Amino acid sequence: MKVLVVNCGSSSLKYQVLEMDSSMLLAKGLVERIGIDGSVITHEKIGMDKFVLQVPMKNHTDAIGHVLDALLDADHGVVKSMDEIGAVGHRVVHAGEKYAGSVLITKDVMDALEECIDLAPLHNPPNIMGIRACQELMPTTPMVGVFDTAFHQTMPPEAYIYAIPYEFYEKYRIRKYGFHGTSHKYVAQKAAEVLGKDIKELKIITCHLGNGASCAAVKNGVCIDTSMGFTPLDGLVMGTRSGAVDPAIITFIKEKEEINADAVVSILNKKSGMLGVSGVSSDFRDVEKAAKEGNERCALAIKIFAGRVKSYIGSYLAQMNGADVIVFTAGVGENDIMMRELICADMDELGIKIDPVKNNVRGEEAVVSTDDSKVQVLLIPTNEELMIAKDTAEIVEKVKNN
Ligand code: AMP
Repeated sequence: MKVLVVNCGSSSLKYQVLEMDSSMLLAKGLVERIGIDGSVITHEKIGMDKFVLQVPMKNHTDAIGHVLDALLDADHGVVKSMDEIGAVGHRVVHAGEKYAGSVLITKDVMDALEECIDLAPLHNPPNIMGIRACQELMPTTPMVGVFDTAFHQTMPPEAYIYAIPYEFYEKYRIRKYGFHGTSHKYVAQKAAEVLGKDIKELKIITCHLGNGASCAAVKNGVCIDTSMGFTPLDGLVMGTRSGAVDPAIITFIKEKEEINADAVVSILNKKSGMLGVSGVSSDFRDVEKAAKEGNERCALAIKIFAGRVKSYIGSYLAQMNGADVIVFTAGVGENDIMMRELICADMDELGIKIDPVKNNVRGEEAVVSTDDSKVQVLLIPTNEELMIAKDTAEIVEKVKNN
């Protein structure tokens, strides 16, 4: 079966087509500036040059129309007819408490996603628009929703309930949800495969360190805690996000700077993290280069980031009574040799020993711990699209066979 994976933002749309028998990527692309002047689609049939087309696209339905044209194109396409696409998998950010796994999209599912707009006002509306556009243009193709929050739904209440008046949970569903779930699930499963063990017998700490960053504790195959919270602002320090801060800072800045609470939260989302501390960049490469050249605030930002990841690893080691494996993934986790070393430094008493020679690797699956490290440290490139496609194919096959 071929599966189309769609990830819709407010003015952009990423897509991939995968052949599920071989898990092979056939084509991928990006539509940018949807609904804005200068709309453009960049399509790539794997093994061929990129194909770029500037064409007006007033909405997501136009964008999906051009994606389908590209997939059917005689030169750059990968299918002869749309019937060859067995299913569409949609990345959706927030499914609230409703779904603990991926689901076939029905009217009830769409209603549930609409209800979650309150919880993810920036992300769920474009995700929903993408689904509706596909439903309009591919009315007979089954669609599956794969949710960033789903993998974390196994957390016990003591991990997800905040110690604020319980009625806020009852009235407004304020709780920890967690994000990056598809990535945490993918690398946790891959780690079990790499170790040749059943995931149900493992204690895994997954560290998704990119521009957005989160850690998760995965015990016996299910997530028991994660660092992002009610929103993706909580937890680790990120490219431009502060991560966890004392909430009283919000009203303090509000009064001192004479701005409203939304403006403070916007600062915490967009002007904080590595960018805020370093004053140089949100990009780890820029910050590390400047640190090497003697910029002290950049050096400080790096230490703060590494220290925060270390704290979460420590917390999850305590919660799970140790770990079998720590996995690093995403842009920083996969490529930043120094950061992995810094995070894992001085944890030998906890059974974590990184091997500087083995750790000298980027972007490929590798064991980076020493042979005698009690906790194995792995680098596993994430592949959220493959995870979405796998879930999608599995659900559609199940429905067909019922
Ligand atoms: P992501 O959000 O997963 O795409 O990750 C983006 C982040 O990965 C950016 O902050 C990049 O600076 C970082 N990154 C990518 N390559 C490297 C590298 N070679 N060394 C350090 N950071 C990197």
